[in-house]
Amino acid sequence: MRYISTRGQSEPLGFSAAVATGLAPDGGLYLPETLPDFSPDLARFEKLGYAELCFEFMRVFATDIPAEALRDLVTRSYARFSHPAIAPLVRLDERTHVLELFHGPTLAFKDFALQLLGNLYERQCRERGESINVLGATSGDTGAAAIHGLLGKPGTASFILYPDGRVSPLQERQMACTGAANVHALAIDGSFDDAQAILKELFADQTFRLKNRLSAVNSINLARVLAQCVYYLYAWLRLSRAERAAAEFVVPTGNFGNVLAGWMLTRMGVPLAGFKVATNQNDILHRLFTTGEYRVGAVQPSLAPSMDIQVASNFERLMYYSVGCDAGRVREIMRTFKETGRYRFENFDRGLFSSSRCTDAEIPEIIRRVHRQFGYVADPHTACAFKELSPDRPSVVLATASPAKFPETLRAVLGEEPVHPSLEALKSRPVVKHRLPATAAAVRAYVEQHAV
Ligand SMILES: *Cc1c(COP(=O)(O)O)cnc(C)c1O
Repeated sequence: MRYISTRGQSEPLGFSAAVATGLAPDGGLYLPETLPDFSPDLARFEKLGYAELCFEFMRVFATDIPAEALRDLVTRSYARFSHPAIAPLVRLDERTHVLELFHGPTLAFKDFALQLLGNLYERQCRERGESINVLGATSGDTGAAAIHGLLGKPGTASFILYPDGRVSPLQERQMACTGAANVHALAIDGSFDDAQAILKELFADQTFRLKNRLSAVNSINLARVLAQCVYYLYAWLRLSRAERAAAEFVVPTGNFGNVLAGWMLTRMGVPLAGFKVATNQNDILHRLFTTGEYRVGAVQPSLAPSMDIQVASNFERLMYYSVGCDAGRVREIMRTFKETGRYRFENFDRGLFSSSRCTDAEIPEIIRRVHRQFGYVADPHTACAFKELSPDRPSVVLATASPAKFPETLRAVLGEEPVHPSLEALKSRPVVKHRLPATAAAVRAYVEQHAV
């Protein structure tokens, strides 16, 4: 299987090369050249456990990895999840299910993709006899999940920048208390935007990038989207026939990576019935789906920080399909959007998507209501999805983080703090972080000194 760019001006690549490249050289995002049809396989898939299903799915895409190597890699990726079902589907009442995606090592859904990506990177290092240094910036979950995906893997190191004092204490501990020598938690004296600007500058320097074999772990990586398709498929197979035909998947959304993965399945012969894009107060996507206008906003920090985004980078993949796979149109739209900060789609068709928006004032109320109604504790991101479930069709709410990651909010709202043993264990470990000034020069010097 080959992978093409949404902007049509990059060479198609094989799976491993597309995963290693991340963003295509023409600025586009990689997608499979053709999509498989899984409809003849669905009956067989029903009987498979999570890792086995993931292997059967990924082998269709990762055609340049021998099957046994892929099976081993996938199995190891989900071996560190603490729930036997990996992605348990919990029934709250007749119409409402929760798909819990927070039983991985960092207690957020990003582990599903980043555990796999870490193993793919490790394999690549071995095959090529070359090391990889991952450089990323985080305001929370991504950094921790990336670090845990590469933890202790020979030939790899991770350098994660975050704004000192501006991620939650537990999130910082997930990055800075691993005890692993290949992890570098870089607390910069600046904001998340400063961290991103530094990253952009360092990645733009080709010489530095190649010399240190730098790789990014942002949410546009092809492997992340594909890995995320699997839990939708797994959950859908667990619904009754009637529920399959009607259920709406309700997804707390930031960069559109998670919900896009579910929708991609509908182009592969798996008829998921609908998706609700649940945003927080950073609502570029809710505005798009209600007005047809895609318009950049200013980020307002919220109680659901992993959804605090200005633009939803993975939306470009949906756009590619929406314009009939016309890469020229995608280039035109993205150029207008870049120049003017907005794009209006004429005769906008929402297709299978609906949307909602949840403000910071509403999140505590929703957490209380869900607790009262179902006896279920939702984290602030998942709470956004519970804003308004459809009264006349079943809902599958994706729970993207464990409430134990947000003890301050939960204590303030419910009067008690959820605890999780893996987070408790972190509290007694020493914090190993490196404070750096918010300059590209300081980060460059640090990476040069510590790259593997
Ligand atoms: C990253 C994240 C999201 C947003 O996911 P996207 O793929 O960016 O839409 C939602 N909830 C949590 C807990 C996250 O970590």
